[in-house]
Amino acid sequence: MTTTPNKETLGFQSEVNQLLDLVINSLYSNREIFLRELVSNASDAIEKLRFSALSDESLLEGEPENAIDVEFDTEGRTVTIRDSGIGMTREDVIANLGTIAKSGTREFFGALSGDARTDSQLIGQFGVGFYAAFIVADRVTVLTRKAGTAEGVRWESDGRGEFTVEPCSRARRGTEIILHLKEDASEYADNWRLRSLIKKYSDHIAVPIRMLPTTPAEEEGEAPGLETVNSATALWVRSKQDISDDDYKAFYKHISHDFEDPMSWVHTKSEGKLEYTTLFFVPGRAPYDLFDRDAKRGIKLYVQRVFIMDDAEQLLPRYLRFVRGIVDTRDLPLNVSREILQRNKAIDTIRGASIKKILGLIETLAEGEDYQKFYQPFGRVLKEGVIEDAANRERVAKLLRFASTLDDKAEPAVSLESYIGRMKEGQKAIYYLTAETHATAKSSPHLEVFRARGVEVLLLSDPVDEWVVQHLTEFDGKPLRSVTQGKLELPGDEAQPEQPEDAPESDFIAKLKAALEGKVSAVRPSTRLTDSPACLVGDDYDMSANLQRILRAAGQEVPNSTRILEVNERHPLLIRLATEEGEERFNELAVLLFEQSVLAEGGRLEDPAAFVRRVNQFLVDAAG
Ligand code: ADP
Repeated sequence: MTTTPNKETLGFQSEVNQLLDLVINSLYSNREIFLRELVSNASDAIEKLRFSALSDESLLEGEPENAIDVEFDTEGRTVTIRDSGIGMTREDVIANLGTIAKSGTREFFGALSGDARTDSQLIGQFGVGFYAAFIVADRVTVLTRKAGTAEGVRWESDGRGEFTVEPCSRARRGTEIILHLKEDASEYADNWRLRSLIKKYSDHIAVPIRMLPTTPAEEEGEAPGLETVNSATALWVRSKQDISDDDYKAFYKHISHDFEDPMSWVHTKSEGKLEYTTLFFVPGRAPYDLFDRDAKRGIKLYVQRVFIMDDAEQLLPRYLRFVRGIVDTRDLPLNVSREILQRNKAIDTIRGASIKKILGLIETLAEGEDYQKFYQPFGRVLKEGVIEDAANRERVAKLLRFASTLDDKAEPAVSLESYIGRMKEGQKAIYYLTAETHATAKSSPHLEVFRARGVEVLLLSDPVDEWVVQHLTEFDGKPLRSVTQGKLELPGDEAQPEQPEDAPESDFIAKLKAALEGKVSAVRPSTRLTDSPACLVGDDYDMSANLQRILRAAGQEVPNSTRILEVNERHPLLIRLATEEGEERFNELAVLLFEQSVLAEGGRLEDPAAFVRRVNQFLVDAAG
């Protein structure tokens, strides 16, 4: 038989120690947020209780009233936050207040730089939660009893490596957190100070936050009643005119654990067939796990103001995973589960409308001066929308920005609409080039004829772009075409000498082809080149060289597809080659021509050493 030890001393998980170290030593610039974090936890605990009580009313223990009470003792230098929420068992306490269970913790610690300033920003992004208590306290006592259980638990720690847990008797359900303030934080044990912090950070909390009145009771001996300090209604229920920007910002910080203001938001009530309210925020910057496609997505689901679940991933597609916010509806049962959400008509409708609202919000940002502030952190994620959201493909595509040959900035700033707006007369397609880097794209020989004729080409150097162009085959009725694939039909072709489709191959071309047997599928005179001697192109439906490179780098088997060598017969090298009589030398030069075409487009040679040997041989000959 095992007996529960009365009092145990346990060590914090090492990540908690690391976090506490940062909290205690570097979060001095914005200390007042401790209250917001603790009140936020208290309100979550009350939401959890309400939700559990839907199926088991006995958990309310005959006390359905819920509130968060904030008390202070100026002389004793303490602040106490007490809630009537779900509470914690001994196991809960050890797990929740001794470890960090949150997914993404590893990435978070991986992202820490050791520099206190940047790291304290990161902590903000991560949400310090309970451990924020140690910003102002050098000792924290937690008294808690889980609703529906008999015994309470007392937890205590000075935040330096260890904590204690022991049973205690406790009549009230819920949790009480007593902060023994550091000497230099005594200012917080003050009625006005605490009230102003509650108004500033926690006004939108849907539960009453109560404090003693600021004036003492009239009659000696009469216990003064508590006053509600916040507005205590769910923010999204209030009418928009009554909500200030500051209210929205504070609410965003509450749900997102972000220290910084959101970039923008959209708040909608729908009262048609379905009744629902949505409030969505675009954060001011990227969360640290933005590129983790499996990261939790931040939409909270409420049914008639009762909190149902976090990260309801059915509510938004993955490519909008940077959006934070809430959905509240009357049209779902209170006991809705994730499984039910997956095939629920109401959810499908709300999701469809939510996507449109958010795209509308981004469109407004796109019309503004500072779209790059949005596009820089979130553009790459938005691009995934072209791939996964067929219904909104064109609308998402309109929001994308690209680098181009007519725009010398590396930062992508050209929209498909503005591209079309300056298309040359007679130009039939939107041209693009994909490459590993912006620099490789910019200097690719494939661009020569486009430059010569003033036709703009979009330069795509983001790996996801390869998939974007596969799904976005046209925009506004114009096909998207790679400059490295197929035959070109460019405005200005009329002025060029006609190249009949089935013109007989010249001897020279046939000789080149024989010399490059197995390396290329064909050799043909180029219409693409003005300055370079040669380049490689694919057939219309071939996989691009860039995509082959990406897939290989990801460890995938890619069949070796041979490409077409296009040659510029006016180039001195080709003119020289055409007169070469020695067979061996002709073959060597032909291979060299092929190899430099591979290099020029950022490709990799199968046998780089042989290439170097060949070049050196020619250098020696030339010098000799
Ligand atoms: P987070 O709230 O982001 O999960 P915290 O460090 O703030 O992280 O809290 C860890 C966990 O401790 C919470 O998820 C919750 O389960 C529990 N907890 C914290 N405060 C309370 C409270 N007042 N009542 C009940 N449980 C709480």
